[in-house]
Amino acid sequence: MMRLSLMTLGISLLFATQAPAGDLGFTDTPMLPGGKWHVHDPARPHPPLVTPGKTASEAPSDAIILFNGTSLDAFTTIDGKPADWTLADGSMTVPHRDGPHGDGSLTTKDAFGDMQLHIEFREPAAVSGTSQNRGNSGVIIMGQYEVQVLDSYDNLTYADGQASAVYAWKPPLVNASRKPGDWQTYDIIFERPHFDSAGKVIRPAYVTVLHNGVLTQNHQEILGKTDWKTLATYHPHANALPFTLQDHGSAVSYRNIWVRKLAAQEE
Ligand code: MG
Repeated sequence: MMRLSLMTLGISLLFATQAPAGDLGFTDTPMLPGGKWHVHDPARPHPPLVTPGKTASEAPSDAIILFNGTSLDAFTTIDGKPADWTLADGSMTVPHRDGPHGDGSLTTKDAFGDMQLHIEFREPAAVSGTSQNRGNSGVIIMGQYEVQVLDSYDNLTYADGQASAVYAWKPPLVNASRKPGDWQTYDIIFERPHFDSAGKVIRPAYVTVLHNGVLTQNHQEILGKTDWKTLATYHPHANALPFTLQDHGSAVSYRNIWVRKLAAQEE
């Protein structure tokens, strides 16, 4: 029995020492463009381990949780006052206000450049208004670039202003809206614009959006700062800025907001 075990061990060791090291990479392979790494280079840094959430909506281990249903602490009003949206039932809702919309938008305290953002929203179950006045809100990335939030379930409006549009620029590839009252998701991958020292755009911003898991913006170039009835143009800004959740006078709710800051990918 002992002899058999030793023999087994010997075979195992023999196998281990003779296992091809090439399993973990090669250095006798061609160089990749950029001149830094061989094809299958064993010295190439490995991506960090991240534990995903149990569902694609649940934050992975390296995410910054901005809102988990219990506190508005990660947000302020645009003018820096404590966030005052209605916090109830694990969600935050644009409160009813008298006066013009926009006064009560919230902005993150933290600043973001390239990022992956997960956010869930719910249009009011009690439908009111038409076109842009039905469930309007928005995720205004860097305070500049709005991914529209709107009740676009059986609600016609201009195409570049419906849910998941890059506002005033690109309609979504499809309308993946759920009906009002149902929770919906946006998964947004954003690449910030780059400016030279004179403020000229040397690389525009890009955005990818999945609406309820459906691709609606595919690495879409952004034209500039979005605005109503205006051709978007860029205004030079910092490399990282807060994003805004728009108060457009509709009682839109949000929940489960998390962000992963993205480092520039190694080449
Ligand atoms: Mg909006």
